[in-house]
Amino acid sequence: MGLLDGLLTLVLAPRCLGCGDATRDPAALVCGRCRSLIRPPPPPLCPRCGMPRLRTGRAAGFRCQECMEWPAGLRSARSACLLHHPADALVHQLKYRGWRGLGTFMAERLDTVPLPADVAAETRLVASVPTTEARLRERGYNQAEVVARAYAATTGRTLVPALRRAPGTSSQTTLQPVARMANVAGAFRLVETTKNEIAGEHLLLVDDVLTTGATVVACAETLMAAGARCVSVLTFARAVGRRRTN
Ligand SMILES: [Zn+2]
Ligand SMILES: [Zn+2]
Repeated sequence: MGLLDGLLTLVLAPRCLGCGDATRDPAALVCGRCRSLIRPPPPPLCPRCGMPRLRTGRAAGFRCQECMEWPAGLRSARSACLLHHPADALVHQLKYRGWRGLGTFMAERLDTVPLPADVAAETRLVASVPTTEARLRERGYNQAEVVARAYAATTGRTLVPALRRAPGTSSQTTLQPVARMANVAGAFRLVETTKNEIAGEHLLLVDDVLTTGATVVACAETLMAAGARCVSVLTFARAVGRRRTN
């Protein structure tokens, strides 16, 4: 290795986007250790919404507080991991730091998530949770769409741009749960040109993070009002506990 090569390697040493450590594989955005930390949420999970049940209920007569208010057509939700280190860092890098290549990494992880049998069999179409016009202008992409597009390509599904934000809606990030619910009610619109495509379909809605569920409920209601038969949700990470309010 020449001096220049040596200097360049030092300056441009590839860093893992999860932990910041140098990675040996220049093509990998995420190091082996971080990859091993991205694990599925620990069972038992709510069979519908995929929330880890922790110690919240006995096996018999279990009624999940997370999804009891969900509309009937919101069939299920699953996530590739919980929003802990390093998943939180990866979500941040994709959303705010322009690391769009992470969409492919996240899509690969989504592809390993066991879906309920009917969801796996019926979902031909993938939609993503839309971001606001202001964010789209500022960043040039919607992180959920980046993940959804890669996931659709990986699994042979079709990405359908079925949803858009209603004008004048704001971002969720800074809001508390009750405000989130109010903020997203009526926040989404159907992209009318996709109406025929989604009619009667079981859609798979992809997002980077599932937080309180308010957003996916609002999206699912919009899609079902427009003629979709039902909606299931697949996200890279799932926020639990304290994480859900930030
Ligand atoms: Zn790492
Ligand atoms: Zn549940």
